[in-house]
Amino acid sequence: MAYDLTDEQKMMQDTVARIAREQIAPGAEKRDEEAAFPWDVVEIFRENGLFGADFPEAYGGSKMGLFSLCLVIEEIAKACASSAVVLLVHELGSMPIFLAGNEEQKNKYFPKLATGEHLVAFALTEPNAGSDVSGIKTKAVKDGDHYVINGSKTFISHGDVADVLCVAAKTDVSVPGHKGISMFIVEKGTPGLSIGKHEKKLGLRASHTVEVILEDVRVPAENILGDEGHGFPIIMKTLDFTRVPVAAQALGIAQGAVDYAIQYTKERIQFGKPIFSFQGIQWMIADMVSQVEAARQVTYKAAAAFENIPKDMEKLPKEIVRFSAIAKLVAAETAMKVTTDAVQLLGGYGYIRDYPVERMMRDAKITQLYEGTSQIQKIVIAATL
Ligand SMILES: Cc1cc2nc3c(=O)[nH]c(=O)nc-3n(C[C@H](O)[C@H](O)[C@H](O)COP(=O)(O)OP(=O)(O)OC[C@H]3O[C@@H](n4cnc5c(N)ncnc54)[C@H](O)[C@@H]3O)c2cc1C
Repeated sequence: MAYDLTDEQKMMQDTVARIAREQIAPGAEKRDEEAAFPWDVVEIFRENGLFGADFPEAYGGSKMGLFSLCLVIEEIAKACASSAVVLLVHELGSMPIFLAGNEEQKNKYFPKLATGEHLVAFALTEPNAGSDVSGIKTKAVKDGDHYVINGSKTFISHGDVADVLCVAAKTDVSVPGHKGISMFIVEKGTPGLSIGKHEKKLGLRASHTVEVILEDVRVPAENILGDEGHGFPIIMKTLDFTRVPVAAQALGIAQGAVDYAIQYTKERIQFGKPIFSFQGIQWMIADMVSQVEAARQVTYKAAAAFENIPKDMEKLPKEIVRFSAIAKLVAAETAMKVTTDAVQLLGGYGYIRDYPVERMMRDAKITQLYEGTSQIQKIVIAATL
């Protein structure tokens, strides 16, 4: 499986790196401080066609593919993880439609998603159903040519700003566990759909994380994705695909922290020398650089593998599933370790908000938690062995 970057990908990477440096990085601290959804960043992504990276040309996408999307996310996350998550959630929310949507659904929703005119969210988690998806209680009951959905979702990224939400609900409560779950497309403005609590978070603060409340929400029956009761495989496959962009986000955060720590330790003078000249510091930085490079290799390998998998493939090969979980696990653990080390390398300044590494450390933590915690990645990996 080759995962060398093509010339086109290298050019795209350079362009996005420049956008990140010039347009995204300068506002990162303010975004973190204000915790407001970054509409300015959405506009930058729209202008540069970045929302369409993984969408087919037929729907207005640029069809660069999942690997290229990961490269974009990595570059943006180096500067601002809250901005990178805008693209990540876009992929997460669109993926169920990619995997199980019919032509009418794709024709209806993809053109506006591919340009970023519309944003999308993925509403799975509930207060009693996090790692264990089978615990969801949200119900969808067929009523003529509609389904009526009732329940509440928690921790939904961008649920308040999304025009379209992919919502998981039980259509058959008589069967236990993950059976009887279906996925629905729910449009913003549908009566009964409302937003509850906005979470205050440790990191990723400009990304909104909200409660989504569904009270007698009537959606047309044609908004179901795939067959009734077959939502669980769609959810699992969605996460198999989108864990790779999360790995890319973690990788970007880690690289951003290493870059800053190298520059800082070369400039900071103690004992009459730049602290970079001390072997203890060099060894720490050599470890950090090595760990980030290792995380990059597994992430790129997983991205290349997933790019070559048709999204309508019935069942993903288990080696492929294993690789997305490995990539997310390794990259997330690396991001947490490396950003913590970067704070250490800045000494007391690392702990102060004027320097970006404390934000990067706070932002890194989420990559060990969402789209399956690191423990859940180990369960996924073990299940394929
Ligand atoms: C900022 C943010 C954004 C999010 N965005 C979204 C979103 O857009 N859409 C969405 O649907 N969800 C979203 N989530 C939810 C997220 O995916 C869940 O929080 C995550 O999957 C963990 O579920 P939980 O919080 O209920 O933890 P729990 O499942 O309660 O886990 C608690 C602890 O137990 C461990 N654990 C659980 N089961 C096992 C086991 N079998 N073996 C070993 N350890 C185990 C976990 O690893 C964890 O350490 C988001 C969460 C956050 C914080």
